[in-house]
Amino acid sequence: MLVYSFVLNKDNHLFPILLNFNLFKKLNRMEKPTTYCDVVLLMDKTNLHRIYHDTAYGFPIGSDDELFGRLILEINQAGLSWSTILNKQENFRKAYKNFSVKKIAAFKEKDFERLMNDAGIIRNRLKINAAIENAKIILLLQKDFGSFKKWIEHHHPKTKEEWVKIFKKTFKFTGGEIVNEFLMSTGYLPGAHIKSCPVYKKVLKAKPAFLKK
Ligand SMILES: [Zn+2]
Repeated sequence: MLVYSFVLNKDNHLFPILLNFNLFKKLNRMEKPTTYCDVVLLMDKTNLHRIYHDTAYGFPIGSDDELFGRLILEINQAGLSWSTILNKQENFRKAYKNFSVKKIAAFKEKDFERLMNDAGIIRNRLKINAAIENAKIILLLQKDFGSFKKWIEHHHPKTKEEWVKIFKKTFKFTGGEIVNEFLMSTGYLPGAHIKSCPVYKKVLKAKPAFLKK
């Protein structure tokens, strides 16, 4: 038997998930509110939230394209659940050319139309436009700083509020939640995992930037 339950999203918003009944009973016995870590650790190892939480969330990213890919996903989540984005993440990767900054910066009108007609991704003019315009900006940052990652490191460390200001004046469609999630999910800001989460130790071993203050 499968039931819908509402749990806390990683950005502390409620989101619906489909659970088997045993998991649902377990979840309801837990003290509320539960964290994203607590909820995800109850999920099956094959659940997309579980895979994201265990292998990606909070871990540093080395490549500019992958960093940019995470930013694209966070921008596209705005107003939607993270489940929606996780379910579509492979479609995003395909539609956005493996998140190649160079290729996306060169997208023309026909690429924009292709994305607008792709039901596998989020078809939102502002979000698609933000991906293309932000790719062009990252190309410039790569010229000036060597890489997008080096540009972030150049500014690190900053408080969440300072980061939001920097992102807002540099990029399109980068509001507070998006910037916070992007930087937490890539290890520049702390807070992706609760300290008792077993994945927190693995994140620490990967030496996230938030440790270097
Ligand atoms: Zn965790």
